[in-house]
Amino acid sequence: MNPKPEYRRVLLKLSGEALVGDEGFGIDPKVLDRMATEIKELVELGVQVGIVIGGGNIFRGAGLAKAGMNRVVGDHMGMLATTMNGLAMRDALHRAYVNARLMSAIELSGVCDTYNWAEAISLLKEGKVVIFAAGTGNPFFTTDSAACLRGIEIEADAVLKATKVDGVYTDDPATNPDAVLLNKLTYQEVLEKELKVMDLAAFTLARDHSLPIRVFNMNKAGALKNVIMGEAEGTLIDH
Ligand code: UDP
Repeated sequence: MNPKPEYRRVLLKLSGEALVGDEGFGIDPKVLDRMATEIKELVELGVQVGIVIGGGNIFRGAGLAKAGMNRVVGDHMGMLATTMNGLAMRDALHRAYVNARLMSAIELSGVCDTYNWAEAISLLKEGKVVIFAAGTGNPFFTTDSAACLRGIEIEADAVLKATKVDGVYTDDPATNPDAVLLNKLTYQEVLEKELKVMDLAAFTLARDHSLPIRVFNMNKAGALKNVIMGEAEGTLIDH
């Protein structure tokens, strides 16, 4: 008997930084290809996959503002950076023979589709991967907020946040060797212990709409599939 996936529809959040790989800047096509292969496995299991992709590997509005640029313009550039990453991800998925569409919250006629809620739902139902780019379309937000927003809109069973570490720890595992991985947390515990999961706007949006958050390591081969199959992997945050 084939084990059934735990989730029917998910929103996968990929940070821009995760795409850098060995390149140091921009996008490493090898990383994209590996991600596309892992996403393909989910589609083949019958899981509907929406993706929100970040842009931190190219531009972040806050960083540009620190260097003297107008914040709103910087955020526009950040959102366009997410769309560039989205184009690369769509291309990688197509090369892996996965049917994928790219919807941007900022209209880019001739380059990709514009975000449309009803259309996104029907594409997901047809088994197509939908990549949501340009964040929420508004400055002063992050792509984590976009991931929770789109996750709630498409009625995803969970938002799967891909990171460089195995999940949420008691402290930063990069600087504290005694940091312990936490497998299960409530939204309340995350807030009380001030654990770093997402920015507060994104996190409270997920909490207020009871959208479970699963944090896992995208650099660990098979971790995404483990999450989908309901195995003990990463950290689950729920009520
Ligand atoms: N951004 C924005 N509105 C949004 C989402 C993103 O203005 O709804 C801009 C913001 O400047 C942000 C950049 O796009 O810094 C890239 O997104 P993010 O920093 O979330 O990317 P990640 O850290 O996931 O790579």
